[in-house]
Amino acid sequence: MRVLYPGATIGVLGGGQLGRMMALAARRMGYRLVVLDPSPRCPTAQVCDGVVVGALDDLESAKHLAKQVDVITLDTEHVPADLLTELETLVPVRPGASVLRTINDRQVQKQFLDKQGLPQAAWAPATTGEELAAALAKVGRPAVLKVRRAGYDGKGQVRIEATGDPAVASPGFAGARSSAVGDPELIEHAKLRGEPTVAEELVRFTREISVILARGAGGELKLYPIAENVHRRHILHTTRAPAPMTDGLRKRAEEIAVSVAEALGHIGVMAVEMFELPDGRLLVNEIAPRTHNSGHYTWGACVTSQFEQHVRAVCGLPLGDPRAMSGAVMVNLIGDLWKAGSPAWRAVLDRPEARLHLYGKDLAAPGRKMGHVLLLDDDTDRALATADQLIATLTPT
Ligand code: AMP
Repeated sequence: MRVLYPGATIGVLGGGQLGRMMALAARRMGYRLVVLDPSPRCPTAQVCDGVVVGALDDLESAKHLAKQVDVITLDTEHVPADLLTELETLVPVRPGASVLRTINDRQVQKQFLDKQGLPQAAWAPATTGEELAAALAKVGRPAVLKVRRAGYDGKGQVRIEATGDPAVASPGFAGARSSAVGDPELIEHAKLRGEPTVAEELVRFTREISVILARGAGGELKLYPIAENVHRRHILHTTRAPAPMTDGLRKRAEEIAVSVAEALGHIGVMAVEMFELPDGRLLVNEIAPRTHNSGHYTWGACVTSQFEQHVRAVCGLPLGDPRAMSGAVMVNLIGDLWKAGSPAWRAVLDRPEARLHLYGKDLAAPGRKMGHVLLLDDDTDRALATADQLIATLTPT
């Protein structure tokens, strides 16, 4: 593909906050952008040159977008890979259909990791009652059940506790669900509404980290300082970067992430989330073939943000410098903070090290990511304490 210099037009599938922040970086550099999203007021559309209003799985709308742009990229991996295959006949798509085909189905993603010999939690398919029973025998209890497609932030996940009757293997699991009352595993499983599901062992990790990297159109790689993540109710709460760690651990984490990106032939930014175990081993939890919430700190803390880096990669430009200029803590602002109206931002705005980011979402639903605060401070322990203090101040009473 030819290099797309400023002045070219980038198409974005999906109009969330990731697309918005990428669009802001791209516009600063002089690119034009058009987004496809069901909502003309979505966070990305607010900062784009154009919007095609349509569903992300609507081929006609996607083709309409393709006609207006020089390259297509994604705000979300929850786009049908077959649709990307069609678009690839019209315009370059980065990352491409083959990457999405591997990533957006958890089971295929796990098979891919196994094939590459990369470490992950024990897992097994668990869609039917028979599979569930076999999966629990394999991965043990407690376990986590996850829908194969379209789950995120803990949505489409249930936990199977350590105690309880062994899951009943029954012919025609869908029929068995209604009479499952009293059987804890089947009740949890039924919450996933019969969707294709995998079971994973519940990992007793010491912490969660993520490697954010970019792979350019020619295979060039740039890695950001590794992030350490804390989740609350399955949603990312804080990221600290750089994550304190030994050189040995950092190297192992980077090697795993690079293997993933290269084996996939990925182009663009990618996040590889990992669990660190008490014995120092790392397990891959999830791969995101896009910019990532745990990389938001790069916008402000690093020479080149993950958003600019993604633009550079998909346009075939040389990748930018990922070096951190400061330690950083990012804390997410979740919709629950809006329970009593717009939070009193003064507490954030008064702090010299704090930067407020809001995503322009009209509706502040509980659990919805509305924005984040970046705290630039080389003392990241202090910044983590400040983050919790700020959230406590903003929390409605
Ligand atoms: P996911 O959507 O798979 O990234 O899961 C969201 C969060 O749930 C993770 O970041 C972990 O904090 C937790 N989680 C997911 N899978 C597991 C697991 N197998 N064992 C323990 N915690 C998990």
